[in-house]
Parts: sequence; structure tokens; C-alpha cells
Amino acid sequence: MKNLILLTSLAFMAFSSNGQDWESVEIKTTKVAGNVFMLEGRGGNIGVLVGEDGVMIVDNQYAPLADKIKAAIKALSPKSIKYVVNTHWHFDHAGGNVEFGKDGSIIIAHDNVRTRVSTDQFMAFQQNKVEASPKIAWPIVTFSDDLTYYFNEEEIMIHHAPPAHTDGDAVVYFKRANVIHMGDTFVRYGYPFVDISAGGSVNGMIANLNEVLTMINDDTKVIPGHGQLSTKSDIIEFRDVLTDIRDQVKKSIEKGKALDEILSSGITKKYDKKWDGAFIKTKDFLTFAYQDLVK
Ligand SMILES: [Zn+2]
Repeated sequence: MKNLILLTSLAFMAFSSNGQDWESVEIKTTKVAGNVFMLEGRGGNIGVLVGEDGVMIVDNQYAPLADKIKAAIKALSPKSIKYVVNTHWHFDHAGGNVEFGKDGSIIIAHDNVRTRVSTDQFMAFQQNKVEASPKIAWPIVTFSDDLTYYFNEEEIMIHHAPPAHTDGDAVVYFKRANVIHMGDTFVRYGYPFVDISAGGSVNGMIANLNEVLTMINDDTKVIPGHGQLSTKSDIIEFRDVLTDIRDQVKKSIEKGKALDEILSSGITKKYDKKWDGAFIKTKDFLTFAYQDLVK
């Protein structure tokens, strides 16, 4: 488990660095349910829906992996990749847009994803400047709230989360297969990254989890943004941890506590053994909560 957490986070932190060893990355395919599959390589998990009408994918990792990802998809279906959905703009999820866009796939994402991939961005947490993508990588169908696709006998609900991991998150629910792709609004590497500088919010993250919990059921298969296939009960646990910590940070702020005092107050003690991760440390998550609540 620790290894998995480390790998996932290293992959994420490598985000925009060059000179990565892409050659060694292998794409692993897992059947999730019905005609929905999950691909893992480096970066965020990819959801794949195959069928008579063609292929739809949710997220696409990094551009240098596009050939390997396309090969893995070809092994599932000979049909063309008609739709590419982005759960958000981060490059470990949407970096492949440039390659899938060149093939003529229709890229679908929230309005704010188009805004962010088409302009230079600065990620304050990593102190990382991300340059605008070429136009071919921009979403050409955008939505402000929800969007429903009828494709391959599936009803696919693309639901915009309130500002959560970023300000342009979407969760993608394949209703018939009963599979949901959560993007980075739900991850398995420990405390989550909340990209406050891209409009993310801990409060919104919790609100989104509560919304999702009304949409899914005990049989739903959950594809997290990073990490292993999960279930509704994993989302409930994640929601409960985030909610408790958010509430305690809120109380501390109301008592006039400064961030330094909150960081040393031990309010997350009972969670840290399991949730303090290689990528997001306890102090990072407490800082996200603090920044969100005082803004
Ligand atoms: Zn992300």
C-alpha cells in the first residue's frame, strides 16, 4: 500500500518535469463492469467505454504515453475514439488531449477546463508554471453544469462538481454499468490535493462527495483519480475524514487560532497513520482547509 501511494504521488509530482522515463511505463487494463474498463499507467486513472458506437475515454494521462494508451484501447475495441472527457485540466489527466485531439476525438470538459488549458497557469502548491496547451488540445464541447450522453446503450452523466479539487471538476457516471469515474475529487493516495490556486475548495470537495453519494449505490464501482478501484464505502470514509478535519479547522479559526497553531494542535492525529501521504502531508491538507475557510 505504501509503495502504491508513493508511486502514485511521484507520478503526480513529476507532472511537468521533462526527462521522465516514459519507455518503462506499462498500461494495465482492468475490466470494471459492463463495457467499462480502467487503464493505469502513470498519472490519473483512465476510464474506457467501448461498444458498437465507438469508444469514449475519461482522462488520458500524459502526451508521451498516448501511443501506449491507444494500443491498450485498441486491444479492447477496433472502433475509433469518438469522445475524450476530461475530469479536470491537470496534466497527469488531460496531458494526452493534444494527441487525441490530433486524431479528431471530440474533447469534452467543463468550461473552466478550456479556460485553464488555453492559458498559462501557475500552481501555487508545487510552485509550478504550466504553459497553455496548443489549440488542438482544447475541449471543443464544454458545459457549465451537467451533460448527459447516450452512447453505446449507455446513459453517461457528466456532472460538474462544485469547486472541489479545482474549479472545473467533473465526475462521470455510467449509469447502466453502474461505474463512476471521480477524477481527483476522490483519490487513494492519502489526504487529497486541493488545488486552491485553481479555484479548488475543501468545502466544495465535501459537498461534491455528498452529492455523489446520493447518485450511487452499494454496487457502484468507483474509479478514483489515483489508486485502486473502490466502492461507495470508501467514498464515505474519505468524506467523513475530510468533514471532521474541516469542522475542526473551522472551530479553531473561530477561536482565533492562527495556521501555525492549527498545524501543531494534533487535530488530525487519529487519521495521520493512514492518511498522511508521500504527496500530500498532513500539514498540506490542513493548510488547504485553512486557506479555503479564511478566503
Ligand atoms: Zn488533479
